[in-house]
Amino acid sequence: MRNARTWIAALAFAALPAAAQQDYSKVEIKTTKLGATTYMMEGAGGNLGLSIGEDAVFLIDDQFAPLSQKITAAIAKLTDKPVKFILNTHWHFDHTGGNENFAGAGAILVAHENVRHRMSTEQFIEFLKMTEKPSPKGALPVVTFAGSVTFHLNGDEMRAMHVPRAHTDGDAIVHFVNTNVIHMGDVYFNGMYPFIDTSSGGTIQGTIAGCDRALAIANDQTKIIPGHGPLSNKAELKAYRDMLATVAERVGKLVAAGKTVEDVAAAKPTADLDEKWGKGFIKPEQFAQMVAHNILKNR
Ligand SMILES: [Zn+2]
Repeated sequence: MRNARTWIAALAFAALPAAAQQDYSKVEIKTTKLGATTYMMEGAGGNLGLSIGEDAVFLIDDQFAPLSQKITAAIAKLTDKPVKFILNTHWHFDHTGGNENFAGAGAILVAHENVRHRMSTEQFIEFLKMTEKPSPKGALPVVTFAGSVTFHLNGDEMRAMHVPRAHTDGDAIVHFVNTNVIHMGDVYFNGMYPFIDTSSGGTIQGTIAGCDRALAIANDQTKIIPGHGPLSNKAELKAYRDMLATVAERVGKLVAAGKTVEDVAAAKPTADLDEKWGKGFIKPEQFAQMVAHNILKNR
């Protein structure tokens, strides 16, 4: 589990209690019912989405491998059916770490084609100075899609839609049409500056566009599951989207004026936003640098 530990140490998710970062035995899976057949589960790593009903268990993301038994036990409290489908919102290890375990137990792994591509090859995340080895075959998605794919299960429709070059180049957001829930993956970090993985093809403009895609299908009753942070809603997602647009505009102007990444950070372009958004695992200075680097690399 070297990769998992490296990942956790590198990211040091502030959304998690410190103990949970090192010791999976302390992690508890919290289940929240969102609709007749729809649930959110929180443990360590990316938030899970679930559809459970008469047809099959559909799961969005699966956190870290050492948590597979706990996740399975939490699902078993709701149904006696096994997990039949897992949709990965993107390739990052805190969302796909349980893939091999669940696939070994019979689940079919589904993701955007770039998720399979990145998991199949060695990856280097420059911002974290971190190398991820290729995943074993058993952890790779066996069904991939380019644009979208819909699951017709449990009296609901789960539409997974690719949002291009957002948090990575393989993100999917998932709309539970009938129960009015949207899972955003890491396109949305609720209440904090996000990590945008430039090395994996992510862009701040694509992240904003991904938020807009969700805002266009959400209403005031929609329950929105972020990749990290607590359960959310349309108004909070809109505030997050507007924060991103403000930072992108400010940093874009500095970059256009010839400022370096260091200059941009020194100018503190997020100063008035930090009280609300700067207390997550990406600190204000890091976020300014990340966005400047992202805009420089993609212009
Ligand atoms: Zn991620």
